[in-house]
Amino acid sequence: MSQRLVLASNNAKKAAEMQALLAPLGIEVIAQSALGVSEADEPHHTFVENALAKARHASAATGLPAVADDSGLCVNALGGAPGVYSARFAGDPKSDARNNLLLLDKLSGSHDRSAYFYSAVVLVRHADDPRPLIADGEWHGEILEASRGEGGFGYDPLFWLPDLEQTAAELDSALKNALSHRGAAMRHLLDRLRSHPLVPDPRASGPLAPEPFSSNPL
Ligand code: IMP
Repeated sequence: MSQRLVLASNNAKKAAEMQALLAPLGIEVIAQSALGVSEADEPHHTFVENALAKARHASAATGLPAVADDSGLCVNALGGAPGVYSARFAGDPKSDARNNLLLLDKLSGSHDRSAYFYSAVVLVRHADDPRPLIADGEWHGEILEASRGEGGFGYDPLFWLPDLEQTAAELDSALKNALSHRGAAMRHLLDRLRSHPLVPDPRASGPLAPEPFSSNPL
């Protein structure tokens, strides 16, 4: 059996970005949805606490190491909102379209359109890991007055990159990963993994428990 890592996200588009970013690990990365893992609660007010909750949830359910991202859009004219509440800015059920409309509404008439995406990523070797690996990243841009582009997800069609004269939804996925908050966070996480490689965990158990991780440098 090969080395395996669970990706703790049920957002298919975010999971695809993270799969690509984890490719340098050279191990099997499995989306939690493929293992029947439910979406974790995100009760916290900080990104890092929610990312940790998601990673622990996926690891507890599978017996495998897990990696999670918690991310959001922070808009300066809105005091950093929607921030950690980005996914449900316009309430339940989650809707990117309604979130984007609400954002445009709240910013109508505002001259300050500056904003940034933030991502916290956490990797746990097992559900009770006392030393999770943690990294974060930011991506700065502006909020347009109307959507542009079909790619990406979430607020991408409104997130304008002045240097590129494109929105995040107009970038191909490789360029988005090279520039984005999640890309930066994941690259920092992979750096941390190189100095703190995954090692066999005697507490891992259950039907999905991994073969011991080799001490292969990642
Ligand atoms: P999470 O999955 O609970 O971390 O929610 C993250 C939310 O932040 C998403 O539902 C989007 O609304 C927003 N978000 C995070 N990253 C991005 C991105 O790369 N592009 C667009 N929106 C994003």
